[in-house]
Amino acid sequence: MLRFSVLGSGSAGNSAVACSGQTRILIDAGLSARQLCLRLETVGIDPNSLSAIVLTHEHGDHVRGLDVFLRKCQVPVYATSHTCQVVREGLRTQPEWRLFEAGDSFAVNDVQIETFSVPHDAVDPVGFVLECARTRVGVLSDIGHVTNLVRARLAGVHTLFVESNYDEVMLQNDVKRPWSTKQRISSRHGHLSNDQAAELVAAMASAELHRVVLGHLSRDCNAPKVAAETVSAGLRKLGFSEVDVICAGQNEPLPLRDAALLMAEAVVAETLETVDAAAADGAAAGGASARMREEEEPVDSSETKTKPQAKAKGKSDAASSRSEKASARHQSQPHQPDLFGAWSAQAG
Ligand SMILES: [Zn+2]
Ligand SMILES: [Zn+2]
Repeated sequence: MLRFSVLGSGSAGNSAVACSGQTRILIDAGLSARQLCLRLETVGIDPNSLSAIVLTHEHGDHVRGLDVFLRKCQVPVYATSHTCQVVREGLRTQPEWRLFEAGDSFAVNDVQIETFSVPHDAVDPVGFVLECARTRVGVLSDIGHVTNLVRARLAGVHTLFVESNYDEVMLQNDVKRPWSTKQRISSRHGHLSNDQAAELVAAMASAELHRVVLGHLSRDCNAPKVAAETVSAGLRKLGFSEVDVICAGQNEPLPLRDAALLMAEAVVAETLETVDAAAADGAAAGGASARMREEEEPVDSSETKTKPQAKAKGKSDAASSRSEKASARHQSQPHQPDLFGAWSAQAG
């Protein structure tokens, strides 16, 4: 099972961490080395225990802390050869570089990492999908527009970290930024707006999708509530109202959380799928036998999950079915955005 946390995200610095039983991978190092160490410790990770650092691209808000951090902790750094060429010029001590090309896959211990190109104004920017024990985490930071390749690579992720940089109206009305900067931000090689992030998340919605973490929120041209609500509204329209949507802040890490459903919940969800299939069979054969199955369900903690499913039988609308499955699997883990400090998180 993969676990995932965003240590900090925004124009002042970006870094996240994913870990499995034996592997700890830092994704970007845009916070100061001191903050990287502090925040790793806050989420329960010894900075000296990192297995790898992987870089999305060379912009300062993604690599600023790398030089000092590498003097404290010896960790191999994975980057494309083009990104490495730029980043290494800014380092006083060279780490052990592990180079890849965009599109390659490689393993760090038990974690498989797929890489893919993204459109952004950097030399060779990439996104990642990290996978371990059938748990998939998608990482998409800094991307000007969403491509078919991106959608294809992110299919079936359990946790999706995606930038949701600006609200279009707030960016238009912003008086601090010159027109050229606004153009760059909203260009096809800049950053994603809330609406673009919502569109991507809606396209990626599936029974597997458990949590969406929004990052890189502009301090002046966005607000966590606005970003989260825009993305949540898109999910609700498709019947995925129980997917967690939270915002990463600039100044404090999110808790390290399982990237997918806990195994016990997954078993419940699978059971519900079986019940669904059986109920659908029953409905086809005759309502009475379907009602029998419904009533025969054991009265335990899954009861409240089973009933909405049983009511769903006979519905042919795929979205409704997905919605209720999502709803059922989350009833044992109520949507508690405040646990993550999500709605009140600093936009950074
Ligand atoms: Zn960038
Ligand atoms: Zn950035």
